[in-house]
Amino acid sequence: MPTYIPTIGLEIHAQISTKTKLFCSCDNDSFDKEPNINTCPVCMGFPGTLPVLNQDALKKAIMASLALNCKINNFSRFDRKNYFYPDLPSGFQISQYEQPLAEKGNLIVNVENVEKNIGITRLHMENDAGKLTHVPGGTLCDYNRSGTPLMEIVSEPDITTPKEAVSYAREIQKIIRAVDSSDADMEKGMMRFDINVSLKKPEDKQLGVKVEVKNLNSFRSLEKALEYEISRQTESLKKGESIIQETRGFDAEKEITVSQRVKEQAHDYRYFPEPDLPPMEIAKNEIEEMKKALPELPSAKKDRYQKEYDLQEHYIETLLEDIDLGKFFEELVALTNLPQRSITWTNDIILNQLKKEKISIKEAKIKAPELAYLIKAIENNEISNLKAKEEIFPEMWETGETPEIIIEKKGLKQVNDLSSLEQICSQIIAENQKAVADLKNGNERSLGFLVGQGMAKSKGQANPKILSEIIRKKINQ
Ligand SMILES: [Zn+2]
Repeated sequence: MPTYIPTIGLEIHAQISTKTKLFCSCDNDSFDKEPNINTCPVCMGFPGTLPVLNQDALKKAIMASLALNCKINNFSRFDRKNYFYPDLPSGFQISQYEQPLAEKGNLIVNVENVEKNIGITRLHMENDAGKLTHVPGGTLCDYNRSGTPLMEIVSEPDITTPKEAVSYAREIQKIIRAVDSSDADMEKGMMRFDINVSLKKPEDKQLGVKVEVKNLNSFRSLEKALEYEISRQTESLKKGESIIQETRGFDAEKEITVSQRVKEQAHDYRYFPEPDLPPMEIAKNEIEEMKKALPELPSAKKDRYQKEYDLQEHYIETLLEDIDLGKFFEELVALTNLPQRSITWTNDIILNQLKKEKISIKEAKIKAPELAYLIKAIENNEISNLKAKEEIFPEMWETGETPEIIIEKKGLKQVNDLSSLEQICSQIIAENQKAVADLKNGNERSLGFLVGQGMAKSKGQANPKILSEIIRKKINQ
């Protein structure tokens, strides 16, 4: 029995993948753009401007809520959250406080083969702030991100270990990607976590004092921050110290949390209903329609991949994390009917290449029908696996050329013609009498050597399986 049990809650901020910002028509994609280029009087908070709700953002937030089993409130509204900071030109954030878009969801996560249900308190929408960069002599403000639509997904404090927290966060990422509500690309800051964690003794009825750690921007940071906080609080409590309710930051290099400020109470923000936006009324039949339009969710897809294709767990995870790669794989299997060959090509070769070039499968020149042709050609012994990987695939990848043309051009068609293979075998048997004698005495490695000689003689174009059959037959004659 552990001395203390952690109680963990997670707040996830995910950028909604819309074309424009939440309340204006500025471009929502500011990655790698010149600072302050995607701004207008609305998202710069000028007096006299009026926000207009982006209906696409609302729809995507509802889809995410439904996928997380949340109840959509028929009536919800925006509130102003007032605080003063240079990244927020209007002096308030438009968020949802008392009547959020959706509530009471849940998610089942699987940690080391144990299923656990984690409650979702609420999902609400809000706009993001700008980005500050501190430099010697001042601070640079970039408002490109100001007004970007966010969903905040708040969990119940049902999580008890760092591993559970990571599984939960990973599952949320897969789900919001599956319903196309967010790209959730952590490297681009599209998904961030705030955690709160407290410790209590197993026999305690009440929870311990809660500490918040803000702005974690990777799964690793999430896990490490929780591990550190749990051990820090355990040490303090063992020494008889009390835990201070506070907000801490995470130093990703040292993997420790550091105190930032004593927790603000909710009323510090002076929330009040946003006067410039009408409340949102969402009819029951609209919600029902959207429920019907939900695509296959990751948990169902996982079961299907297991049943239909018998894929290993780590392969399935890859396909669920990258929706487009998953589609590519499914197209490949539909064309080849060879799940195992298709997954090893998708995961071991295509994915490596994508990672190397930092692109998505959509941006790659290679298309599923061409790769399917190549895979079938290997399966039918028309070309060798080695030639496919080393000579044909790289050219397909670089140029987008079809494998038929490359095979033809390079003269790579595997020699399956029995009479020419018989001739090669007779030659190598004559030239390698010692290896032949060894093989006759039961040394199986000599067979590999002889096949290798045959491959060399055919300049790699012979079918090694047929070569080995012929050699064996000739020796036993
Ligand atoms: Zn704008």
